[in-house]
Amino acid sequence: MTALETGAAIKSGKITAVSAAEQVLDAAEKGNEKINAYITVCREKALKRAAEVQKKIESGELTSPLAGVPFSVKDNICTKGIRTTCASKMLENFEPVYDATVIKKLEAAGGVVIGKLNMDEFAMGSTSETSYFGPVRNPRNLSRVPGGSSGGAAAAVAGKMAVAALGSDTGGSVRLPASYCGVTGFKPTYGIVSRFGLIAYASSFDQIGPVARDAADCAAIMDIISGKDIMDSTSLDTESPGYLASLTGEVKGMKIGIPRECFISSGLNSEVAEKVMAAAEVLKNAGAETEEISLPFLRYAVPAYYIIASAEASSNLSRYEGVKYGYRSENFSSLSELYSSSRSGGFGKEVKKRILLGTFVLSGGYYDRYYLKAQGVRAKIKKNFDEIFSRYDLILCPSAPDTAPESGRSLDDPLKMYLSDIFTVSANLAGLPAISFPCGNDSSGMPVGVQIIGKAMDDVKVLNAAHAYQKLTDFHKNFAEVK
Ligand code: GLN
Repeated sequence: MTALETGAAIKSGKITAVSAAEQVLDAAEKGNEKINAYITVCREKALKRAAEVQKKIESGELTSPLAGVPFSVKDNICTKGIRTTCASKMLENFEPVYDATVIKKLEAAGGVVIGKLNMDEFAMGSTSETSYFGPVRNPRNLSRVPGGSSGGAAAAVAGKMAVAALGSDTGGSVRLPASYCGVTGFKPTYGIVSRFGLIAYASSFDQIGPVARDAADCAAIMDIISGKDIMDSTSLDTESPGYLASLTGEVKGMKIGIPRECFISSGLNSEVAEKVMAAAEVLKNAGAETEEISLPFLRYAVPAYYIIASAEASSNLSRYEGVKYGYRSENFSSLSELYSSSRSGGFGKEVKKRILLGTFVLSGGYYDRYYLKAQGVRAKIKKNFDEIFSRYDLILCPSAPDTAPESGRSLDDPLKMYLSDIFTVSANLAGLPAISFPCGNDSSGMPVGVQIIGKAMDDVKVLNAAHAYQKLTDFHKNFAEVK
């Protein structure tokens, strides 16, 4: 069942919040042996909470369409009393003393957190292979990666080990795994969802977003988690449009631009191109107008993103020094040695690489050459998008150049891995809403994802286009059994 179907079944009394939680917990524990989607499954806490929620639903106190629904949460979102590791040895035993705002909101609506999801360490990666707790596997094919960094979220939803999940997207981490696993992942406009309690990677990009079976579920989750938060000064003070209620499933008259650069890039798999164009055709037949457009900056997006994201990461991660919290090495004889040996021992290779790169691009002499230049590129990209959105409602393109790669290969060729983010990072550079949803399979049976990007604050339009597509097609309903 989708999250909305689960909520409706609980509301009507067909099932209870407790039986729903039990079923998901069983599936999560069983599936985890193969998939490794969860770092922590909190059975007792979840069942206790489900029982409380059930009472409140029966007494009429909880009325959200998602009341009683089990939720799984990426392990970089703080949950009070439940360890939050960021998939790192550095935070292996970190138990937050507060909930992220999204968790507070989810619980206030009657959501039941059942576990914390595996991911790339500190959300740095595109394959979910850099976790200290071991790699996540793709439930469609265990020899393939699930995508990253919210790989646990997408794999759990695709493998029926979660009803819906919260992930985070800094450069595509909700959309890329959604694409590789055949589920729907939505990155909201920057600032629409509070980042309070999301462990920072690159603060000017990070956004929490839903990973679910379909766009309607994503909209229902947005109704709960979005909104101004005084704990996050970058959160926007805007009226909620009523995400779910605004989904009409109509795209008549909508102008959709299809960037030609996405299709002439040499790395694009021809089967992906074909399925994505077929998805555009479905929207066209439903009354949308499609037209070729140009995104001349596309090839600068990945370098600009990795420079800025690493710079921000090097600053954000300086807080892990072995003193205040997190891993502390026992091997030191001075304060500076305590710092260096705790950081050397607590962080994995990819994270260290990003910290080094970030420190380098921010250092005297290189700041102008790399960091400022990348910020200039970012401004140009934003301007290019503004210009496009003055003429078009939406942009449609692939979510990724290829379907899920084989496990164990990507980390040997990091530049290739970074390039798998080519179609997702632009939305983060410009702060735009974007969604990935399945539009078919390649010849090896792996899902292909199509992406729709909208203007800032046009989150409903983006969700609605995906919803319109999902009303006309069944790709989002094809769930492979875990084999
Ligand atoms: N793959 C990108 C990176 O490693 C994006 C990660 C993310 O969105 N968290 O930076």
